[in-house]
Amino acid sequence: MILQTRVLVLNQNYQPINICNIRRAINLIGKEKAENVVETGEYLRSVDDIFEKPDVIRLFYMVKRPLQKKKLTRREVFIRDRFQCQYCGSFQKDLTLDHIIPRCKGGGLSWNNIISACKKCNHRKAGKTLQEVGMEPIKYPKEPKPNPYIFISEYNIKSTWIPFIPWVKKEPIPA
Ligand SMILES: [Zn+2]
Repeated sequence: MILQTRVLVLNQNYQPINICNIRRAINLIGKEKAENVVETGEYLRSVDDIFEKPDVIRLFYMVKRPLQKKKLTRREVFIRDRFQCQYCGSFQKDLTLDHIIPRCKGGGLSWNNIISACKKCNHRKAGKTLQEVGMEPIKYPKEPKPNPYIFISEYNIKSTWIPFIPWVKKEPIPA
């Protein structure tokens, strides 16, 4: 249905903030809360009016949205570490998670303590500390920065939207 067509929503400062459907976009334009920023040359007719079909709209006011923190999951840790064992540097499909400070020594489940390790390295390190086993990660792990455009990756981007999307997070593909 045409009213379900996706429309990119830009903040007042032109930063993409959301995707809505045409019905919502027309509603925002009608209430003078947003403007159409891409001329599509296509029109929609209602009972008593005619609208240009919106494709990208810009809000007339700033919307502040808290950045969503990444959830600590196996997959997110592997993505952060680019599917690379952080001890030997090999790229693996069947990575494991290693606690840098082992659980038995009080190491917790946190972005700073969880790292991608191949089975061999994980086995070698086991319940020991880095010092005990003489290993060092390629990079000490940190919490990844939130991606403000995460909502875009869930959808197919239309070619008309690309000029408005400064950066689209592409997830690395396992080797
Ligand atoms: Zn390894």
